[in-house]
Amino acid sequence: MNDQKINWVNTIFLTVAPVAAVILTGVYIYNYGLHWMDGLIFFTMYILTGMGITAGYHRHFSHRAYDCHWTVRLFFLLFGGAAIQNHALHWCRDHRIHHQKVDKDEDPYAITKGFFWAHIGWVFYESGRDEDYTVSPDLARDPLLRFQKKFYLPIVLLVGFALPAAVGALVGRPFGGFLFGGLLRVVIVQHLTFCINSVAHYVGKRPYSIDNTARDSWWLAYFTYGEGYHNYHHRFAADYRNGIRWYHFDPTKWFILGLKRLGLAWRLTEYREEHILKAKLETQMKLAQAKMAGAPVELADRLQVRLDAAREQLEAAHKQWEDAKERYAELKRSASGRLATAKADFEAARYEWKLRTRQYGFQFQAAQARWALLIAAVSRLHTHGAPLA
Ligand SMILES: [Zn+2]
Ligand SMILES: [Zn+2]
Repeated sequence: MNDQKINWVNTIFLTVAPVAAVILTGVYIYNYGLHWMDGLIFFTMYILTGMGITAGYHRHFSHRAYDCHWTVRLFFLLFGGAAIQNHALHWCRDHRIHHQKVDKDEDPYAITKGFFWAHIGWVFYESGRDEDYTVSPDLARDPLLRFQKKFYLPIVLLVGFALPAAVGALVGRPFGGFLFGGLLRVVIVQHLTFCINSVAHYVGKRPYSIDNTARDSWWLAYFTYGEGYHNYHHRFAADYRNGIRWYHFDPTKWFILGLKRLGLAWRLTEYREEHILKAKLETQMKLAQAKMAGAPVELADRLQVRLDAAREQLEAAHKQWEDAKERYAELKRSASGRLATAKADFEAARYEWKLRTRQYGFQFQAAQARWALLIAAVSRLHTHGAPLA
């Protein structure tokens, strides 16, 4: 039995708002039709309040993944507040506990207590943590966050509802603005961001750590402003990116990069490729070892020796390639402003490192393939007997 006290304000709002949003928008569209402004207000507020949560509450305030100008912080607090997911002091405190105690009893939205609990059930109850900011003293001291907590309700009403209503009024549809940019948007953004606590701890792959339930799903990133790469995020929480490859859909990462370009964000934390590779190899090694635990000791020992050697080779090949890429990039950067006499030597060096980069890249790919073959062989241990004997 759950002995936490019910938070009636949250419970009533979270129950009534979705029903009201569906009925009222339905009735509104039936009577007044749809206007392009409704869509524009919805989409703009969807982006702004979503970024307030993911780029602001989450990656900046909770994880300190980057620093930014106070005006940007204020923007995050105003529009993040308008997402109605509580003020940042409590949101970020709870989120830091989620990372520290993930899946344990103390995790505020532990998936181990069920999908519904992790998604929304936990919000129906008083946390019992009140003003305890042991995990977030830095935020508790921050005057901007204290300001947001003090004026939370006016922020919600003004930024979350009055602002879209006022924009809607420009085309004679204030109630349309209120509905699409306010009520309907709040419900949708809430449930999409709640999915990070539920779906992202439930379905997907775990390439970087199997020590917790957080999972990577590329498709979830499309609904969560890029936060679908949750296994990576739990392993490297201080990284400003969740989707680390350029083709990973992570609009929050692009938003932060945009702020950097404008000079409004700095000190973006980005984990080095070698650490990321290490985490991946560690995870695969753990899975392989679990598989080998059931094999004859002699065979397991022999496999372990081969795995260790392949891993060492792979890491060495990766380092060689990364170093060459760095050297080549340096040479390219210093290409201009050289004396004509030194130019030929310089061009030769540059060409040399270009070739080396490609060569080491191929060597890395080969080492990767060797490792992958070995891992695949280990994973088939029980179905095909002893493949490498
Ligand atoms: Zn999580
Ligand atoms: Zn996080």
